Amino acid sequence: QVPLKPGRSLMDWIRLTKSGKDLTGLKGRLIEVTEDELSKHNKKEDCWICIRGFVYNVTPYMEYHPGGEDELMKAAGTDGTDLFDQVHRWVNYESMLKECLLGRMAVKPIAAPKDFKAFAYVNFLHQIPEEETVVYLKTSIILVILSKLLTLSLVFKSGNYDWFQTDSLITIVIYTKQKDMNAELVIVDCQDKQLRGEIIMDDHSYLVEVDLDHAVSEDVAVNIAEKVGKVEIILNKKDNIHWNMLGQPREAHNTFIKRTDRGLFFRKCKLVSKAEVTHDTKLFCLMLPKGTHLRVPTGQHVYLKQVIAGTEVVKPYTPVLPFLSLDFQEPPRHDGAHIYLMIKIYSHGLFTQALDHLQIGDYISVSNPEGNFKKSQVQTSEDLLLLAGGTGFTPMVKLLNFALTEVSCLRTVKLIFFNKTEDDILWRNQLEQLALKDERFEVQFILSQPSKEWVGKQGKISSSLLSEFVKRSRRDSKVLICICGPAPFTEQGVQYLKDLGYSQEEIHAFTA
Ligand code: FAD
Ligand code: NAP
Repeated sequence: QVPLKPGRSLMDWIRLTKSGKDLTGLKGRLIEVTEDELSKHNKKEDCWICIRGFVYNVTPYMEYHPGGEDELMKAAGTDGTDLFDQVHRWVNYESMLKECLLGRMAVKPIAAPKDFKAFAYVNFLHQIPEEETVVYLKTSIILVILSKLLTLSLVFKSGNYDWFQTDSLITIVIYTKQKDMNAELVIVDCQDKQLRGEIIMDDHSYLVEVDLDHAVSEDVAVNIAEKVGKVEIILNKKDNIHWNMLGQPREAHNTFIKRTDRGLFFRKCKLVSKAEVTHDTKLFCLMLPKGTHLRVPTGQHVYLKQVIAGTEVVKPYTPVLPFLSLDFQEPPRHDGAHIYLMIKIYSHGLFTQALDHLQIGDYISVSNPEGNFKKSQVQTSEDLLLLAGGTGFTPMVKLLNFALTEVSCLRTVKLIFFNKTEDDILWRNQLEQLALKDERFEVQFILSQPSKEWVGKQGKISSSLLSEFVKRSRRDSKVLICICGPAPFTEQGVQYLKDLGYSQEEIHAFTA
């Protein structure tokens, strides 16, 4: 993010898009844009960008881009889809830029005739002696069979599904053939006769998505045979009738693709409670719909979506637990139906102000989880060091819980928590209680703008502060350092840690 000029906030942009001003210069007309034409519009004062086949005139948006003009100019006059996906795939550009839409990219003429390959092959065969042709043909047949087998094995590897019924139940079975399948890797949504079941397999996802043949009740059960990777989605029939088919497949049904190539899926969740954590931060509790099975893994975030002044706005938030468990004898049991979010309300924040105005009982859209943190990073560590700045504390909540409950080789867990003032410290009491209760855990608060009464540590993230607090418990102990906070805090922190001799593998920075 870069500082924007006054009057150039997201809200100002939304206002401009609603003002009726012609932002494309085409008076609402849509055009077909050729690659050649697109490439001509590559200057700040005349800038077009193509995203997923649609071309936008982003010239009027230039000063409003939160990442700055130079970032936007990287895609000027070109197809910016890859760049966009790398930086902020989750931003709802269709809604944000709808008044800047110029039209579609023109379809390129196809250079070769349709049967070009076959034609070239036959031509090629004519040029070689007859006996060699037989060898070529045989080899080709073998290659075709091999490629078919490979495709089949890929389909199997990616999983396939089956379904069966009893008088009252429909069971969909997905054979993922993946070891260590677990409840966090299965996301099911069943509402209004629509079923969507997504299975996460590393960086890929397999999807079952159908319009069901008949109505089902709201309850959905998910059974997982972890060792063999079999997933069952069990639906309750509303009427005890025989189904002739599961339903009509939707477009993405039975596909196995990269996770990043799937659009974000949202479901509406009900706000059931809102409690104060500090003077500006609240704990929101959202209830998932009954037909949804979703568990947010440790270290991952979700996206919330709200329509603000007619524009869909999406922002990431990291689910926490309702409180820090002080008894780590057993993993705390959560019902899985609620998502807790600890959110700081900014006095001029576009999204958080709208969030704060939600009433209990109102609905908000919540996406599937995302993030690149892997629990296995902690599972082999002896020392876990957590550096948090402000609400950068949120990913540390589940991480603390996981580390102290389930990681037996951990010797020390230390949280170094940077805040401006004492009043800003989130869950201070609970953290101090936890440190008293569990001797492996230690917390250090560091304030950048303390009052005169503060007797604790003060300062900003720096090499000297980190060298004082970030230490291995033994000279050769295996360490993992996780860091999260304002982007410059995280970037500087990572650099200081590297300067102190920690390797890339020993550091995990939480980002979008
Ligand atoms: P914005 O409108 O973005 O403004 C925030 C503040 O910055 C305001 O004071 C505003 O005046 C100022 N500001 C905005 N833009 C500029 C600018 N260009 N120049 C100068 N000042 C500016 N937050 C949480 O509270 N809890 C979480 O669990 C959480 N998890 C996150 C997870 C991830 C992966 C990421 C990337 C962020 C997370 N955040 C979290 C932050 C969250 O996504 C929002 O950025 C935050 O809530 C602010 O949104 P907003 O629209 O209310 O504020
Ligand atoms: P804040 O109260 O403004 O600051 C928290 C601490 O960080 C303070 O000590 C502050 O010191 C320091 N800090 C702020 N900016 C700094 C900078 N440029 N360089 C060095 N130190 C800096 O923080 P906040 O408002 O809660 O914001 C939390 C941030 O965490 C947000 O930007 C949010 O997006 C991010 N976050 C990210 C994730 C994620 O990526 N997964 C999750 C949750 C939150 P100063 O007195 O110097 O300001």
